[in-house]
Amino acid sequence: MNLSDELVSLKGIGPALSQKFLKIGLVNVDDLVNYFPRRYSDFSNVVEIASTKPGDITVVGKIHQVTGRYSRRGLHITEAIVSDKTGSLRLIWFNQHYRKDSISSNKEYFVSGDFGLHGKSMSLINPAVELVSNFPVSTARILSIYRETKGLNSNQIRQAIKAALPYFEQIEEILPDWIISRYDLMPRAEAHRQIHFPKDQKTLEKARFRLGFEEVFELCLSSLLAKAEIKKQVAVPFKFDETIAKKFVNQLPFKLTDEQKRVVWQIYQDIGKSTPMNRLVEGDVGTGKTVVSSMAALMVLHSGYSVAFMAPTELLARQHANTIANLLKNLDMDKYVSLLLGSLNPKQKILALEHLKSTDMSIVIGTHALIQEGVDITKLGLVIIDEQHRFGVKQRQALLKKIGYMPHLLSMSATPIPRSLQLVVFGELDVSRIKHKPYESKQINTQIYKQNKRLKMYQLVAKELDQGNQAFIVCPHISRDSQIKLASAEAIYEELTKGPLKSYRIGLLHGKQKKDEQDKVMQDFVDHHLDAIVSTTIVEVGVDVPNASVMVIEAAERFGLAQIHQLRGRVGRSDIQGHCFLVIADDNQPSPRIRALEQSSDGFRLAELDLKLRGPGAIYGTAQHGILDLRIAQLDDEDLIYSAKQAATEFIDKDNLLQYDQLSKRVAQIRSVTNLN
Ligand code: ADP
Ligand code: MG
Repeated sequence: MNLSDELVSLKGIGPALSQKFLKIGLVNVDDLVNYFPRRYSDFSNVVEIASTKPGDITVVGKIHQVTGRYSRRGLHITEAIVSDKTGSLRLIWFNQHYRKDSISSNKEYFVSGDFGLHGKSMSLINPAVELVSNFPVSTARILSIYRETKGLNSNQIRQAIKAALPYFEQIEEILPDWIISRYDLMPRAEAHRQIHFPKDQKTLEKARFRLGFEEVFELCLSSLLAKAEIKKQVAVPFKFDETIAKKFVNQLPFKLTDEQKRVVWQIYQDIGKSTPMNRLVEGDVGTGKTVVSSMAALMVLHSGYSVAFMAPTELLARQHANTIANLLKNLDMDKYVSLLLGSLNPKQKILALEHLKSTDMSIVIGTHALIQEGVDITKLGLVIIDEQHRFGVKQRQALLKKIGYMPHLLSMSATPIPRSLQLVVFGELDVSRIKHKPYESKQINTQIYKQNKRLKMYQLVAKELDQGNQAFIVCPHISRDSQIKLASAEAIYEELTKGPLKSYRIGLLHGKQKKDEQDKVMQDFVDHHLDAIVSTTIVEVGVDVPNASVMVIEAAERFGLAQIHQLRGRVGRSDIQGHCFLVIADDNQPSPRIRALEQSSDGFRLAELDLKLRGPGAIYGTAQHGILDLRIAQLDDEDLIYSAKQAATEFIDKDNLLQYDQLSKRVAQIRSVTNLN
């Protein structure tokens, strides 16, 4: 008997049923015991029939007068009476023919169901019935409800788990004893038992706390370990030079905001140390992060060291190179800027590399592949990453090996991280936030359109195009032949070019196109050779197109709120009024989630809301690994999060991961999918 046994080895599970379990991803007993309920229905309240009140109840009694009949509309109805010594109740089942023959009149049953008005009399509708025992599975307890599939309901899943109960002893503890006693945690095996078959609400809470604690603890531990490893490394300290900083600030065409100054100062303090900086600057699109990062670069260049600046796309890299060169021009430091792109032809590349070799220091701007491709950058002191939270620890280690010390790291992102997530998942980062834009920007007019108003909406788009503005149209999928019958970029492109936007210049942009093709479309859009582009979210971290005034998002409910918010930040960046039109895929009422976008223009609040509704994996794109999608812990459960975080901090101080086999494996797995190693 082993947790790795296949499900067919359990009593009551044959080959056919095990196929059903396979459909929900369960192969062996271990999978089954870790298949946690989605919710519970409380039928633990066993009452005398005389004192029944409407709601979920359980009664105990004998069942008699079982009759079956068909209603006029062809519905099969089974009726019966259950009686205890205090009274009788009517039971009704719909389309459950087998009930009549499965009940014997002289035995005692638990009967659990929803007690309510049916027709003119009170009755229990579709109740579960089970012989009285001291371990009922479908009645008389807090019932665990699972994600089901056709032919496999929660009752059957519960039956299987009951059959697996003897295996639960084999569930090993993975947390250190001292943590279990200090935080008063339920032992692991017991928590698994209670999560499936809770004794009472209080015990269920303890079980959930225990399993949630474990999830959060593992995540915290992963990021804190990464942090500890980084802090052990040596970096080059860059001394703050007031003269050069002032000189830079004084020649800017604008005044830095207080927030920008504060963040720059934090960065200067970080890079002044001989341990590597690991800072994330968070701020909505347009909050002015580029000038902040340029000031970091400035101090490093001024000390004679180089900077690598990585952007998500080549086009953005070009744009950044221009911006930064401009910012540095008056200090005669624009000569240090060099652009290094995969799309350069061999000759250009050689030239660029030659240039790199010939100058002592430089600020090399390229895509995220810059570092991976192993370009030699002499005296690299600082790595800046735009639109990405995290620079992989592995990538850092590679750099370390090559250059003998760790460069400082500055990352910038427009996707806000809610505080809880920051503690749990990004614990290794120091975060600075820029909350306000330097100038008052116009509120983007955000509107939701149902399918039947879609064409009308495109008339509005056409009107904008007539005025010489431009539009983005974003779709959740690329190709029309994908099984999902939702808006695909190809289908929408075809539709629009034949119909509503026939007389305009429309481009198509998506990830299946070759890189240079993508760049060409984007460049055409920037140069206003195109009026609109139909694309996938590839434009999310896009370039500035000040002339774009409309962002249409097809099948908007498919996207995360923070993502839509970021997309709509692409328009309304100059003095033209920006519009964001959200198309929902059906004619139902838009969900509160989508509604929130109409009401709020606070990216941070939207991210928090999304986190609550869809989980972290959905926001941070690691959903396919499932590792961020916590199964038990709620990220708004502060008590749980703070305890687990504290435990992880203590663990790093006083314990050694190598002594814990299972925990080490879990942490290694997390670190590999979250780019923490
Ligand atoms: P982000 O990268 O955060 O989206 P950018 O760095 O591209 O934002 O800045 C957006 C625009 O705001 C740029 O045109 C930039 O020149 C301008 N900007 C930055 N800081 C200020 C400021 N303090 N005052 C006025 N304009 C600013
Ligand atoms: Mg930017």
